[in-house]
Amino acid sequence: DVRHGPILYLEDVSVSFDGFKAINNLNLTIDDGELRCIIGPNGAGKTTMMDIITGKTRPDEGSVWFGSRHNLLQMNEPEIASLGIGRKFQKPTVFEALTIFENLELAMASDKRVLPTLTARMNGEKRDRIEEVLTIIGLETQRYQRAGVLSHGQKQWLEIGMLLMQQPRLLLVDEPVAGMTEQEMERTAELLTRLAGHKSSHGRQSVVVVEHDMGFVRSIARTVTVLHQGSVLAEGSMDKVSSDPKVVEVYLGE
Ligand code: ADP
Repeated sequence: DVRHGPILYLEDVSVSFDGFKAINNLNLTIDDGELRCIIGPNGAGKTTMMDIITGKTRPDEGSVWFGSRHNLLQMNEPEIASLGIGRKFQKPTVFEALTIFENLELAMASDKRVLPTLTARMNGEKRDRIEEVLTIIGLETQRYQRAGVLSHGQKQWLEIGMLLMQQPRLLLVDEPVAGMTEQEMERTAELLTRLAGHKSSHGRQSVVVVEHDMGFVRSIARTVTVLHQGSVLAEGSMDKVSSDPKVVEVYLGE
């Protein structure tokens, strides 16, 4: 049973917690290289959906495929992560006592218990990758500062950089701009837009963003998926979904 086409494919997925259907016949297709925003009122199932994709939560029904070859329901969390699916939670979890450079270095290590090697002894390829990511996230001049001194927004970018060290195919990003300044939000929009579709030796990167800030969603998304009661209520451009009476009703009732 092999599928072709999208990078991520959820079909008729359902999951219940104590008889309550948190995800109810969810169908979602993310194209290779796409930047998709997922919105929806509290309790709509956004977090549960992310948990299903990463293998943290097992659905009761349905199928979840990554690319054409990988049936995610037959894999555990570390196996799914090793396919190149990276998740960023809302709160940044950088190592505050380490420098930005060391944080990125540690993110590349397969064994997280090993302390970073002395930077002088690091091989060239690894150093190049860190330099590349520092430039992508715009923290190259702060590389030897401790992560603890960064602003909230900068910590979020560092954490995205830590995911990029693993050369992901799919980035799942939970509320990236919560608590950011206007200016940080603009830079985050620019960063996520640049990441989606970026080609590496591992293929094109796709990005899925769960976000509450509608202005931000409007500024980045070509396609928005509105979740409600565990399934897709509407999907399409921001203009299309925001003028959909079903969507308006759900948000007014929040
Ligand atoms: P969102 O992220 O859109 O706010 P969630 O996915 O967190 O929504 O939650 C969807 C629904 O499932 C909510 O009603 C929530 O209370 C319930 N839920 C989520 N996870 C669990 C769990 N582990 N056990 C019981 N109920 C859960």
